Amino acid sequence: MNPVELVKRQKAYFRSGATKSVEFRMKQLELLKEVITKHEQDFVDAIYKDFRKPEFETYATEIGIIHDEINYALKNLENWTKKQRVSGSLVNFPSKNYTVAEPYGSVLIIAPWNYPVQLALLPVVGAVAAGNTVVIKPSELTPNTSSAIAGIMSTYFQDKFIAVAEGGVEVNQKLLEQEFDYIFFTGSTRVGKIVMKAAAEHLTPVTLELGGKSPCIVDKSANLEISARRIAWGKFLNAGQTCVAPDYILVQEHSKDDLLKHLKSAIRDFYGEDPGESPDYPRIVNEDHFNRLMSYLKEGSVFYGGQSDKKERYISPTILTDIEPNAAVMEEEIFGPILPVLTFKEIEEAIDIINKKPKPLAFYVFTEDDKNESLLMESCSFGGGAVNDVVAHLGNPNLPFGGIGNSGMGAYHGKTSFDTFSHTKSIMKKTSWLDIPFRYAPYEGKLKWIKKILK
Ligand code: NAD
Repeated sequence: MNPVELVKRQKAYFRSGATKSVEFRMKQLELLKEVITKHEQDFVDAIYKDFRKPEFETYATEIGIIHDEINYALKNLENWTKKQRVSGSLVNFPSKNYTVAEPYGSVLIIAPWNYPVQLALLPVVGAVAAGNTVVIKPSELTPNTSSAIAGIMSTYFQDKFIAVAEGGVEVNQKLLEQEFDYIFFTGSTRVGKIVMKAAAEHLTPVTLELGGKSPCIVDKSANLEISARRIAWGKFLNAGQTCVAPDYILVQEHSKDDLLKHLKSAIRDFYGEDPGESPDYPRIVNEDHFNRLMSYLKEGSVFYGGQSDKKERYISPTILTDIEPNAAVMEEEIFGPILPVLTFKEIEEAIDIINKKPKPLAFYVFTEDDKNESLLMESCSFGGGAVNDVVAHLGNPNLPFGGIGNSGMGAYHGKTSFDTFSHTKSIMKKTSWLDIPFRYAPYEGKLKWIKKILK
């Protein structure tokens, strides 16, 4: 549909007030849950066709997370939408004061390809819970999933309420020219800047969920066997195509050999001797990304893995050591199954390496040393993270998820999703039975009193 028409229709529907009642929002969230359950297999099949993601991962990292977010919203929505009383102030005595969450209007949600169902539909939960209409733009790089989302959603939701606009960059550019009331973007830092520029034209507020190089620090006190298993799981999940995957490891020199040994056996345990044969290991999304990733292999020594098959877009879980100084693999977000392992002597050296790079989306520390943990947590700025684990912090709806600086702005998940898609209206209510004349002119004799009150 023509984006101008689409936004016009959504705005008219929003103005009609249809999306605002709590009953409507609950009903739509329940419907969304039903639709996702009914079409679970369609989503699983579509993602499998796009990059051979195993069903377990699709359920655990896409479908299941959306169910969780819907359940959480259904449980709490009545509370979130209530007027929130706040205390009054002396200068406005007597008055009642409250805030109320109001929907923005028509929201544009732009999704990337790497978790193509979750990242298109999870923000929809927050947007609908908050009472908005939604246009979803899935990624063109996962065409089977994009068309499944479009087909399924248009069967159950009218496009004046939730519409799916399929297509590539040109479609997105056309959408970005429209005056949406909120834009929620997940994708690269490069395109995030384009989105923010377009939003500035209409002064549309944005959330930018971007990427970056998320470091993983392992000090000499860490339990290396458990650390290696958790790191290998989070890194090679989705074949490394995860925004919060540990991008590179900084291990304290003394522990390097043991950590490498444990990483190797974790990869073997998970995917067998030949991960190419494993039903649990996905493929790279397209040839461009395959070629980009292959070019990193020349920038160090392959300690483990390094097998590939261009036809299948397969790259095995790979550990790189002896990274060349200024290598691209340490400058760009890797976003694939290649794990550089670098060493540091003292913790301050690791902090220095991390703080010379843009602020990451995620930050992981493996340590049993409380002092090191505090030092790292306090010295580095990042979106969110974990101690002695990776990636799994996303599974807690009580933890807002978002980046900082180059890795994004704003956050969502749980109550934060509702807040993100709501404007907080502040209201003061006065009575008319009392009108203290203090604020009115003439001001003679009043200055000393205002100075006493407001000091
Ligand atoms: P991308 O930025 O290339 O694309 C994202 C969306 O923007 C797509 O829908 C695409 O059609 C559109 N787009 C692409 N180029 C455009 C242009 N020139 N003008 C307007 N629109 C354009 O990102 P991607 O490759 O799909 O996803 C990978 C990136 O997303 C990685 O950097 C990753 O870290 C990041 N990511 C972040 C999160 C998060 O939650 N913070 C989650 C997943 C992925």
